[in-house]
Amino acid sequence: MDEAQKILVVEDDAVTRARLAFLLRKNGYQVDVADDGDSGWIRFQELHYPIVLTDWLMPGLSGPELCERIRRYEGEVYTYVILITGKTEKSNIALGLEAGADDYVTKPFDSGELLARLRTGRRILDLQASMREAKRQLQDLASRDGLTEVLNRRALEERLAEAFTYFLRRGTPLSIAMLDLDHFKQINDNYGHQAGDDVLREAARRVTSMIREYDTIGRYGGEEFLVLLPDTPGEEATSIAERIRRSIAELPVETRDGGTIHASVSVGLATAHAGFRGNVKDVIESADAALYRAKRGGRNRVEHGVGEGIAGAPRSALG
Ligand code: GH3
Ligand code: MG
Ligand code: MG
Ligand code: MG
Repeated sequence: MDEAQKILVVEDDAVTRARLAFLLRKNGYQVDVADDGDSGWIRFQELHYPIVLTDWLMPGLSGPELCERIRRYEGEVYTYVILITGKTEKSNIALGLEAGADDYVTKPFDSGELLARLRTGRRILDLQASMREAKRQLQDLASRDGLTEVLNRRALEERLAEAFTYFLRRGTPLSIAMLDLDHFKQINDNYGHQAGDDVLREAARRVTSMIREYDTIGRYGGEEFLVLLPDTPGEEATSIAERIRRSIAELPVETRDGGTIHASVSVGLATAHAGFRGNVKDVIESADAALYRAKRGGRNRVEHGVGEGIAGAPRSALG
């Protein structure tokens, strides 16, 4: 069912209410009714109707008052409000529009005109929905790395700050893995930059498939990635990092020109535990130092950082 077909009719006059409900249902709307402003407000809060058609004069909340409440309450999704005005309110129509109404019809209303005005409302709602979707797509695009499609550095830093705040609040261990492809310069030199790109993209894809929904991977630099593992103690992080390492080392990457390339990754891990007094930079530095040890230790391996408040989990087995 099209969301924009849902409509709330708020009208205290039983005859008008029944007539409206009948007309709108006959024209494909999914209609709910409320018989005064207060119950209309309660219904609206329950179901967030995209369209509200409300009478002006009612016991309790008036149409404009209901409209004001809707405007204050609604979030990102707009509600299209049409006021039904009697002859006396007609001269005050500016008040209704100031209260936030989008349009009005006068009683006794003409069915054709009411339906036409509702169609206008739905066009506006549809337009709004496609703008919201475009905005969401743009935001998503702006936060992703063009080559690998994982988070870019800026978005990654944001998530890192969030993850660290979550850690500080909850005290559950936060593990961070820094990944760097081994001898990547050689891969580029031997197979060409495009093939190198293919390896990067495939490595990012494999890491993404290894991590959990609430983990985050982002591109930290050229051939470096960061994986954020919230709620993950050092030992568990080590085994995740091991699986990531193997997923890359054990299966050569197929490039677009049909070649295969053996690649591997070195991983430096650091875990902040409850009581850790440092900041996020210290954790990153610890992961970076561990990565450096993994490189010096022969590459294609995982090392876990040690430091004050940073876990010294068991070193992984050699890869
Ligand atoms: P190590 O094992 O010590 O990490 O050696 P390495 O060769 O991977 O390290 P180095 O830092 O010397 O080289 C990294 C290379 O990654 C150099 C750079 O050209 C390449 N690189 C960075 N970004 C990209 C990219 O987007 N595409 C490709 N194809 N190569 C990239
Ligand atoms: Mg009335
Ligand atoms: Mg590097
Ligand atoms: Mg490298």
